[in-house]
Amino acid sequence: MKYLIDGPLVLPTLAAGETLYSWCASVHRRTCSLSSIQISQALFGSPHIARLHDFPGHLTELKIRTAGLLGDEKYLALRHTLLGYFLTFIPAARGADLLASVIRSSTPDIKMRLGIPASGVGGYHPLKCCQECVHSDIQKLGWPIWHLEHQLPSVLVCREHQRPLLLRWEPTTPVHRREWITPSVKTSAQLFEIPVNSEQALDVLTRLANFSAQAASLSPGEMQSEKLAQTYQHWAASNAGLSKGRSLRHSIVVRALNTSFNHIANTLSEMGPAACNLQLAPLIGTVARSTPKAAHPLKHLALISCMYESWDQFWSDYRSAIQRSTARLQEEISSTQSHCKLNTTAQFIQLVQESELSIRQAATAVGISTTTGICWAKINDLPFTSRAKKLTPKFLEHVRELLRVGKEKSEIIRLTKISSVSLNRLLSSEPDLRAQWLSATFECHKKANRLKFLVVLNAHPELPIWRLRKLPGSGWTWLYRHDKDWLDSASARFY
Ligand SMILES: [Zn+2]
Repeated sequence: MKYLIDGPLVLPTLAAGETLYSWCASVHRRTCSLSSIQISQALFGSPHIARLHDFPGHLTELKIRTAGLLGDEKYLALRHTLLGYFLTFIPAARGADLLASVIRSSTPDIKMRLGIPASGVGGYHPLKCCQECVHSDIQKLGWPIWHLEHQLPSVLVCREHQRPLLLRWEPTTPVHRREWITPSVKTSAQLFEIPVNSEQALDVLTRLANFSAQAASLSPGEMQSEKLAQTYQHWAASNAGLSKGRSLRHSIVVRALNTSFNHIANTLSEMGPAACNLQLAPLIGTVARSTPKAAHPLKHLALISCMYESWDQFWSDYRSAIQRSTARLQEEISSTQSHCKLNTTAQFIQLVQESELSIRQAATAVGISTTTGICWAKINDLPFTSRAKKLTPKFLEHVRELLRVGKEKSEIIRLTKISSVSLNRLLSSEPDLRAQWLSATFECHKKANRLKFLVVLNAHPELPIWRLRKLPGSGWTWLYRHDKDWLDSASARFY
């Protein structure tokens, strides 16, 4: 139990599986002197957030104000409010945005962003409790708590005690309410037991409660509409509900699931202000087709609990759907890569045959190495001159002659079409030739730069040397580095 430094709040421990709303009510009960608005203000820095019993807000503020007593804000949002249940079925990126939003501030449009109003299930989330859990909590904790599992919209019975939950409805909205609603078994006009009409109905609803708790414990985005649709189709295929053309046989699927589904639908239709009308055939048409629409978690879980006896059985099929989908994606990538390769080959052939580019030029143009280009040319019978044939003794002697007279490499490549690789290999394998070439190119550079300097000197006899050397094409820099004696003597003749 902790006390805020600047306030009289008494902070009890948050019980496992307890809703955040339930804990806020306990804070109020233990801190008798404040109103519910003051409690909310003290905990969240906002007057009404604490009484929002389904979705949270301002969780970072709560963490700061309670000195981290309740732990990580994300865990708090996912495991102590209804958010985790809904985010399991929301794409991960969108779920992360919503999670960040409720942690950072309040999110008044959260039900809209979760798609609840359009789902047909309704956004009224009545508080629910189990009569036996209430007695058990009083014995263990000293007071009853709202269990998150019981608040999940698809949980209508307590799976631990195998009995229908008590539903408490409240006409006032949380913002206008000033009292906390606490779990109670006292008879009142606002409290009634969810009608479960038979043992068979209890069995199906208990399975639905079990599956709902399993789904709520998953990570955001872990249930994906497309993979769920593939799982439903897989189930249909195993139950003669899929044609050879892989179309869903609606009447067969509906017949197979109808009895179990009716137990769920009938109970949901008798839940007073929280009642909803669930229909099997349209639901299958929406969520089991190849391009499924998003649906409320309750609808998916109702369908799954009618199809599968155990969660493990469903989970195994769902994981297989993911693996099949991954394998299909890899096949598509590989097929696309092959297609791209075919396109590249066609483009290469076209460049060589129609545009008359060399193998090297065509290879560079399509982004492959020259070696690969030569292979493709051989495979596709493209005409090209092999380097091996071109480097004949006569051809090499011609290149040597050009090197001996000091021609630049680029000039030799242009004149003879020898590759730079072959030219460099020739120079490195014949050191004498290399020495001759270096000496000859030096002499060529010397002659050229001396000539440039003399031309500039004659053109600008009035300029001092420090200005003349900066003129473009004066050759001064090269001469200063390689021929300084001549540069000095030539300069001295003029100055
Ligand atoms: Zn119970």
